[in-house]
Amino acid sequence: MKRAEKARRIGEILDRLYPLPPIPLHHGDAFQLLVAVVLSAQTTDAQVNRVTPALFRRAPTPQKLAAMSETDILKLIRSCGLSPGKAHNIKKLSQLLVEKHSGEVPADMEALEALPGVGHKTASVVMNQAFGQPAFPVDTHIHRLAARWGLSKAKDVKQTERDLKKLWPPGEWGKRHLQIIYFGREYCPARNHDFAGCPICSWAG
Ligand code: SF4
Repeated sequence: MKRAEKARRIGEILDRLYPLPPIPLHHGDAFQLLVAVVLSAQTTDAQVNRVTPALFRRAPTPQKLAAMSETDILKLIRSCGLSPGKAHNIKKLSQLLVEKHSGEVPADMEALEALPGVGHKTASVVMNQAFGQPAFPVDTHIHRLAARWGLSKAKDVKQTERDLKKLWPPGEWGKRHLQIIYFGREYCPARNHDFAGCPICSWAG
């Protein structure tokens, strides 16, 4: 089966399984989403959602977060993995937003990627989920499923992103990103592939 046809069928199945995939990280605006995505590296979204209410109560804006000490930030986010580095990065990025961007999150990939702790995937999530811009964030889970489904033979996430972007129209990229994340969470256990029981891997793998 050609890749485009496969992608069309996979898209239909994902639309049936996850018609309106919600944004998993709780946030009130673009700044809070940015902070939540930075906190989510190597941590579950559920864990991030447990710490952000108290953090955003104390510091809902870049100005307020920039004014907190790293020690105080760390106390609030300690249960997330890699918390010292993340406390440093979210304080620093808040300072930069205040100094360079008038306290606003820039709707610009390059400017976002220049912020501490913000890589291409994080910037893509913010561009898409906060600003509604077409972006296809690809993490290792999406990279692995794209390979498993024969949608990409890429060796790295960057090439996988380029391959997936060719298969669905830009208006669908953000939705596909979320749907594949939810699919992986529901169907990919920590070990053991069950190809027969999987609604996509059973025929596309
Ligand atoms: S077979 Fe199951 S566990 Fe393996 S990649 Fe497919 S959905 Fe994930």
